[in-house]
Amino acid sequence: MTQLDCLSVVQSDCADGTDRPSVYLTFDDGPHPIFTPEVLDVLAEHRVPATFFVIGEYAADQPRLIQRMIMEGHQVANHTMTHPNLSICEPSEVQRQIFDTDRAIKSGSRQASVRHIRAPYGIWTKDVLITVASAGLTAVHWSVDPRDWSNPGVDAIVGAVLDTIQPGAIVLLHDGCPPSELQPGNDASLRYQTVSALSRIIPALHDRGFVISALPRDH
Ligand SMILES: [Zn+2]
Repeated sequence: MTQLDCLSVVQSDCADGTDRPSVYLTFDDGPHPIFTPEVLDVLAEHRVPATFFVIGEYAADQPRLIQRMIMEGHQVANHTMTHPNLSICEPSEVQRQIFDTDRAIKSGSRQASVRHIRAPYGIWTKDVLITVASAGLTAVHWSVDPRDWSNPGVDAIVGAVLDTIQPGAIVLLHDGCPPSELQPGNDASLRYQTVSALSRIIPALHDRGFVISALPRDH
């Protein structure tokens, strides 16, 4: 990976040293007061780590969930402060979005060590990648996207993951919803399907011989 690139798949030499191939679970757009604890419960039940790309404004509102993520061995990562399309932000705004989120996470938990960032909507530009690199962060994209945010049904989410999973895959899931899409009474922001799908995806990945690992900290 060059400095101005983003990680979509983890090459096997970066895996955790076992013979079995690793895959990586990532959750965007939280923490959410209802769904993030449910996701954490499922991960705890199966004893697997995940990476949470949190929205800074939500992290500031939910420090206990940031603390719980860290306490339970998960990684907390940067998904910007307010979830803008960074490609249309001024460079100073891109910097603010990244650094303020870092601060929000660390004020939630002093033990948090933020190493990864994912751009909202997966929209990366050269300027964004330069800023990310100068902040010492690794840009993380994904290789498996079951589009759980669109609530396509639990079977569809599980099927999309299992049909496309490969060694080193980074799976994109959502424990929350961006501020711009939160509307009262809008069921589209609910993540029941993701939670339910997760409780089937983890054992199915284990049955196929995959190890669910934390993203490499230095890449
Ligand atoms: Zn997002």
